[in-house]
Amino acid sequence: MFDHPSFDGHESVHMFEDKASGLKAIIAVHSTALGPAAGGCRMWNYATGEEALRDALRLSKGMSFKNAMAGLPLGGGKAVIWGNSKTDKSPELFEAFGRAIQSLNGTYYTAEDVGISTKDMEIVATQTKYVAGLDQGEAASGDPSPITALGVYRGIKASAKRAFGSDDLSGRRIAVQGVGHVGGYLCDHLAKEGAELIITDIDEALLKEVSARTGAKIVSTDEIYDQHVDIFSPNALGAVINPETLPRLKARVVAGGANNQLSIAEMDVALRDRGILYAPDYVINGGGIINVAAEISGAYSRNWVMGKLNVLIETLEEVLDEALKQNAPTNEVAEQIARTRIANAKPA
Ligand code: NAD
Repeated sequence: MFDHPSFDGHESVHMFEDKASGLKAIIAVHSTALGPAAGGCRMWNYATGEEALRDALRLSKGMSFKNAMAGLPLGGGKAVIWGNSKTDKSPELFEAFGRAIQSLNGTYYTAEDVGISTKDMEIVATQTKYVAGLDQGEAASGDPSPITALGVYRGIKASAKRAFGSDDLSGRRIAVQGVGHVGGYLCDHLAKEGAELIITDIDEALLKEVSARTGAKIVSTDEIYDQHVDIFSPNALGAVINPETLPRLKARVVAGGANNQLSIAEMDVALRDRGILYAPDYVINGGGIINVAAEISGAYSRNWVMGKLNVLIETLEEVLDEALKQNAPTNEVAEQIARTRIANAKPA
């Protein structure tokens, strides 16, 4: 474990196997310096246990940085369930997972991620109170995407201000990749301000719907990279900024809600070298975790969420300004700030 390439001084890594339900899960706690570790649970049909471990280690570290940058009293953790989310789910499996979470006594809070629904989490919640992202209950925060999208919209404005000298988006050409939960709400904000939108998605019906209400032009999933736009906004998949796509981009800003946008860490330097201002994904998309944190606090408050979102945008601005000042890649600057915040945390 200590020699694993993705190991980053994680505080603890827990393996759970429940033979009766077939549960195989890993919970990685990267850091609790700022508070209990929080991060979603992913269910994925990994080819090997090694792949599952790698995901848990990597994603839990990412959550430490995301939570630190969002100024939340939360550390970073992540759970992965090794299985097929279409065929392997059962109430017994999620009950066993709930007992696993409970056995950590609040060191780690879980929520939905890829392959997991609120319905699954409701079963988990029958066994443990350390669950967030529920639809029902006193502090339920529900769908986080409107808050994520609002944060992304404001982050795009902050980036535009630095790249073009004005945060006014009217008449700006913006390519939006993915018009699902986050991308859809984002398009509404952008269209309201008069931006000229070019959108893509694999869901034809969704595309038509978003285009009808925003006037966006529709292009194919491949054409999106070649558009003559000011801003490219990834809101679908990860790894979309890679050595194949980067040379095709004409935008001067990359800013969107998708997680893990850079295929490899080096793309950060490559973006800087091409003169593209990149809003680090785990900073600009922090609205969702802020919403979840409000639920974890035990009393959801819209005012608290909006206050935290304001601070998040200020942090993003600090990252962008510092990177421009030093001519440094934005991701590198963000990671330095996150690591400093974690290192300086006072023990609870
Ligand atoms: P979603 O599933 O609602 O939307 C994703 C959209 O991308 C879907 O409409 C899907 O059809 C589309 N898509 C899939 N493959 C595509 C392709 N090849 N080209 C173009 N479009 C494609 O998910 P979401 O909740 O909107 O999340 C979008 C991204 O933002 C994800 O990376 C997610 O991890 C990240 N994120 C979401 C939140 C949140 O609050 N929902 C918070 C933080 C980060």
